[in-house]
Amino acid sequence: MRIGVLGGTFDPIHIAHLATGEQVRARLELEEVVFVPAGEPWMKAGAPLSPARHRLDMTRLAVAGNPFFRASSVEVDRSGPSYTVDTLEALAGEYGPGVELFFIMGADALADFQRWKSPRRILELAKLAVVSRPGFNPEISPLSAAPGGVVMVETDDLAISATEIRRRVAAGESVRYLVPDRVYRHILDNGLYTP
Ligand code: ATP
Ligand code: MG
Repeated sequence: MRIGVLGGTFDPIHIAHLATGEQVRARLELEEVVFVPAGEPWMKAGAPLSPARHRLDMTRLAVAGNPFFRASSVEVDRSGPSYTVDTLEALAGEYGPGVELFFIMGADALADFQRWKSPRRILELAKLAVVSRPGFNPEISPLSAAPGGVVMVETDDLAISATEIRRRVAAGESVRYLVPDRVYRHILDNGLYTP
């Protein structure tokens, strides 16, 4: 069983996350892509962050309707900082032996990878499926110690970020179609990102 795992803050989840998940699924012939919103994103400590409940709700709304996608609350349910290594251990246990995990990440996230908790263990648990991201060079040299552990996957370079979406909502600008309709409604109905 080949399973993709796409972790993120998802504040909010946007169409580039979804297109990335879909394109990596097709290219790597994955049976499922699990979207995992972070409970406590320790790499973003100090930055403004919507409650986990909203980020999980938006993730669920976004993936509903794609039978290959699902949202997991594993990080939101766990207390303390959300470490990818713990999530991969949990998912590996959940799927059991025979599962092949692919951790999907953008080139910007790869640049930080060596600072994550237990990068070696992560590479034992999963292959990294890295997609390009406008403005970031995929720097795979720090991972040359792990040949075969990284797969570059070509996807559309969509220059969309949650930071820009939050900025636009705060400025009263439209983000319609940058996020799925149901996520758009959730943002408006709950007054997210509005000062
Ligand atoms: P923020 O601006 O708040 O950091 P973001 O848009 O970067 O939000 P994250 O939740 O931080 O979204 O990203 C989750 C994962 O999705 C990361 O691995 C990130 O690299 C990847 N990702 C996000 N946006 C894109 C994009 N436009 N193209 C490719 N990968 C992306
Ligand atoms: Mg980001």
